Amino acid sequence: MRFKRLKLSGFKSFVDPTELRIEPGLTGVVGPNGCGKSNLLEALRWVMGEGSAKSLRGGGMEDVIFAGTAQRPARDFAEVQLLAETADNDDGEIEVVRRIERGAGSAYRLNGRDVRAKDVALLFADAATGAHSPALVSQGRISAVIAARPTERRAMLEEAAGIAGLHVRRKDAEQKLRATEANLARLGELIGDME
Ligand code: ATP
Repeated sequence: MRFKRLKLSGFKSFVDPTELRIEPGLTGVVGPNGCGKSNLLEALRWVMGEGSAKSLRGGGMEDVIFAGTAQRPARDFAEVQLLAETADNDDGEIEVVRRIERGAGSAYRLNGRDVRAKDVALLFADAATGAHSPALVSQGRISAVIAARPTERRAMLEEAAGIAGLHVRRKDAEQKLRATEANLARLGELIGDME
């Protein structure tokens, strides 16, 4: 999967609609302190399903919405769109949109259809990218890799290898199995009562 375009509106300091074209190859973001470099990377992680407000430097998820300045009022929503090239469908492209409104939480769309956060997270995990992808190198990330515990380092390698989604599916399958076993046991009891 190759990212082609990121569009932001009302996300952190990007109050006005902003478009970033992502060209093939390595992308670096440069600019003066406080201009929004980290906010851009956070927008990318957020649209890929980041669920932790803390890792987006906020106290709650609504902190990603433009909070206002002396000159401009706060916004009621934030929206980020990511367009990517993929070999998984006929169009050769996917567009993921995440939107959050004050008091209403987040919603996701994949190619115009409403989807769950989990669907988006799995889509990117299977493509060996995602909110925690090692391909996104933010400040402090290198020292975090060096200082990581072996289990944390294994999770990073799994993310890079594109197998992180398998853990989510395994957990789902185990839950379904437990529910089915409970149903079977209950059925056995009912049959026993009827005999
Ligand atoms: P540095 O080089 O110092 O790390 P940076 O270019 O990475 O800076 P960011 O950390 O991305 O900059 O942006 C910080 C700016 O974003 C600050 O001015 C901060 O006030 C602004 N900001 C963060 N969240 C919001 C928000 N919800 N609403 C409005 N502005 C915000």
